[in-house]
Amino acid sequence: MECPYCKQEMKRGYLKGDGRQKVRWQEEGKKLSISDKMAGTGVVAKATWGTFKIPGEYCKKCRKLIIDIEIAE
Ligand SMILES: [Zn+2]
Repeated sequence: MECPYCKQEMKRGYLKGDGRQKVRWQEEGKKLSISDKMAGTGVVAKATWGTFKIPGEYCKKCRKLIIDIEIAE
């Protein structure tokens, strides 16, 4: 998907958490190694939010994350 701000291609991936580790962004097709985890690669929030995995698109340049989500009303 094209970034609506800068028009560059966004990276597909997942916003993930398991309730024990920090909330992270993981790019599709990329595995976070132990050293990535130690270095804090992909950390979005220091909080833990329970177990979840939300697909989305990320633009590194604009620091924007667009997530695919449906909110029940
Ligand atoms: Zn952008």
